[in-house]
Amino acid sequence: MVEAIKTVEVFKNYINGEWKDSISGQITNSINPANKNEIVGQVQSSTIEEVDDAIQAATEAKVNWRKLGQYNRGQLLYKVANELEKNLNDIAETLTKEMGKTLPEAIGETQRGIAILRYYAAEGMRKDGDVIPSSDQDALMFTKRTPLGVVGIITPWNFPVAIPIWKIAPALVYGNTVVFKPATESAVTAAKVVQCFEQAGLPKGVLNFITGKGSVVGDALINSTKLNGITFTGSEYTGKLVAKAASANGVKYQLEMGGKNPVIVLNDADPKSAVDGILSGAFKSTGQKCTATSRVIVQEGIYEEIKNLLLKEVGKITVGNGIDTEIWMGPCASENQLNTVLEYIKIGQEEGANLIFGGKRITDNEYANGFYVEPAIFEDVTSSMRIAQEEIFGPVIALIKVSSVEEAIDVANDTDFGLSASLYTSNISSALAFIDDIEAGLVRVNAESAGVELQAPFGGMKSSSTGTREQGEAAKEFYTQTKTVLIKNK
Ligand code: NAD
Repeated sequence: MVEAIKTVEVFKNYINGEWKDSISGQITNSINPANKNEIVGQVQSSTIEEVDDAIQAATEAKVNWRKLGQYNRGQLLYKVANELEKNLNDIAETLTKEMGKTLPEAIGETQRGIAILRYYAAEGMRKDGDVIPSSDQDALMFTKRTPLGVVGIITPWNFPVAIPIWKIAPALVYGNTVVFKPATESAVTAAKVVQCFEQAGLPKGVLNFITGKGSVVGDALINSTKLNGITFTGSEYTGKLVAKAASANGVKYQLEMGGKNPVIVLNDADPKSAVDGILSGAFKSTGQKCTATSRVIVQEGIYEEIKNLLLKEVGKITVGNGIDTEIWMGPCASENQLNTVLEYIKIGQEEGANLIFGGKRITDNEYANGFYVEPAIFEDVTSSMRIAQEEIFGPVIALIKVSSVEEAIDVANDTDFGLSASLYTSNISSALAFIDDIEAGLVRVNAESAGVELQAPFGGMKSSSTGTREQGEAAKEFYTQTKTVLIKNK
């Protein structure tokens, strides 16, 4: 066992264009949730001093990077996309081994990372301001976008390729330099993504990468007074810490956090399409998507049909090691995550909800060393129960019966979160009422709650977000500030 650990690759910090050992000398194993005895790689537990070194490197690099110009920065992102494409299979496989999502999902996520890089590479050729008519006929007035400066990026473990890239790519193309801290659970995948930026020839100091505990490295980053912006995706709890520190230091910040995403199914919905959307939205990635379906709100006239179809189809889900492409659902990403899911299943039963499918840990034979759980369906759930209010972040859905579209929307809105929401119906009036009244940043009709296209704004309402938006053109609002320029000829 000790011998095996010695041969595992250690992924270092990348600071000022060099891969560096941490002075802490401490490393953390990143393990495979399908088999806890398999070490996928090791990352360093970095120190507060190293966070400062990374910020210093980004600070020194920022003027030259800004002056390189948007077009040239975009051209570099094309090269990063090509590097990621070359390494697609290795990175996708590492992703599956490190956090458990199935290989087809990991390949899809990496391909999405490539597409995001190309989208922002092209942004290098798009306008960075507007000409505005001046009341003075001798003046030219226009706006010009300018970067924030040094941006801190903190990401969760559930999308270790796509989320870092949808933050790093716009940060860079709009002229910022970056200090990036990934979640430890998927830091090996993140390190391999950073290697693609290095291979593409990014100037030193423009992208810096540090690993370690959120409570040490993350805490030092969010409390730095030298950052000009901080963007965070993760839990509501940590997001509030980021907001507090950033406001105290006057640093611009952006938070994307949890969800408790509802799917409403009305009497006039197509049952098959609704059930397909619920299963995919709730159980793909083992329910560990911020946009995953967790509440299924069904009108009484179609309730039994939806329930029976769900029970029939959920029984066909194959759970196992996602590296095997026949597998539909992988393990939970970590032991902590598995324990949280099992705890919520217990809470649901204690609250009086009826567990009608699954919810048990799977431990027999080849599952013994993995963090596997059966997909779970509860019914007789009321909106006030904890399983209908708190984010579980696992393969668990709560069925809630309602009588009307109005009641369905009220129940859907009865949570602190507001990330994504779906409606299945064939009635245009119901769809329009839902689009108007639902409190969610991502509104989906006859489509599952998870997923949004990369060129469209992404983000939530209420406690899910700071209300800012990521992805597409919307990202520009966070990563730049506007100069209003007026020039006269004498
Ligand atoms: P988390 O909040 O535990 O960790 C997120 C990141 O914050 C990690 O890099 C972690 O190391 C760091 N961190 C932890 N403590 C910190 C501290 N004190 N100071 C600074 N940084 C700290 O979240 P997680 O468990 O990695 O991710 C799951 C959560 O992410 C879920 O709530 C999910 O909904 C959310 N999420 C949201 C979106 C979205 O776009 N809205 C997308 C994916 C995931």
